[in-house]
Amino acid sequence: MDPLDALREAGRIAAKVRDTTINEIKPGDKVIDICDVVNKRVAELGARMAFPTNVDINHVAAHYCSPINDKTVIPEGCIVKLDVGVHIDGYIADTAVSKCFNPEYEYLVEAAKAGLDAAIQTIRPGIQARLIGSAIENAIKSRGAQPISNLTGHKLARYIVHSPGYSIPNVGGFGNHTIMEGDIYAIEPFAVPKEADGMVTDGAPSNIYQMQKKRNVKGKAKTMMKFIQGEYMTLPFASRWVLHKFKGPDGVAAFKELLKSKVITSYPQLLERTRAVVAQAEHSVIVTEDGCEVTTA
Ligand code: MN
Ligand code: MN
Repeated sequence: MDPLDALREAGRIAAKVRDTTINEIKPGDKVIDICDVVNKRVAELGARMAFPTNVDINHVAAHYCSPINDKTVIPEGCIVKLDVGVHIDGYIADTAVSKCFNPEYEYLVEAAKAGLDAAIQTIRPGIQARLIGSAIENAIKSRGAQPISNLTGHKLARYIVHSPGYSIPNVGGFGNHTIMEGDIYAIEPFAVPKEADGMVTDGAPSNIYQMQKKRNVKGKAKTMMKFIQGEYMTLPFASRWVLHKFKGPDGVAAFKELLKSKVITSYPQLLERTRAVVAQAEHSVIVTEDGCEVTTA
């Protein structure tokens, strides 16, 4: 498939699954069921997961994904972010929305969306990334909220979710690289109340992992390492996915060995430092001659 067609198809599928799923989410739902239904829908529509579905509640800004047998439920009165990533042949679409069950948080959802809209209106070839950050910051602040300053959007490359060195800041003042026609970016502002710290800090390990390096492990761990490498390559994956393939205590032991020997590493959960509630909005875009095309609209 032509790369642009693959990006657009991945975007269409990610957007469809995002919208169907967020519309259904309600307090009392099990997070693991949400994660699983996203996987199922993505597969049915002919794409693959680019990273495990994130379901982030309240002050968790990013990287919560259910472990095997997760009992976590969507609480009453919360704000929840659903972050979905899919790929076709390595061409990635990354998109997120927020939903709140407390009207007091609605302005945060709107602020994150306004930040994303402002960025989409601003991005074009030749401008510096920091100007997009300024546009996001201004839009979020105009809604009475503030952006999280140490989370950014990111450049997407084939089979690579976070292309190093090319972020889209959510505040002005940094990001000196220039946007080029044909670049693919995920833009993702996060909005918090203006009294909050506006920074995230690392929390507990998530259940999201990434292959680091092939190493000399033996037995079941070796089989598992080969499976991970063949199945996910450079893309993040959920422990749940692997443990469904390698069932029982042997599978758990092999997974622990891969972690201990640093064949795989875990992403930390990212928590707002003052435990303030967080809203997020995200789209993936292709930079065009005079602006951008949103693949996940
Ligand atoms: Mn995302
Ligand atoms: Mn992203």
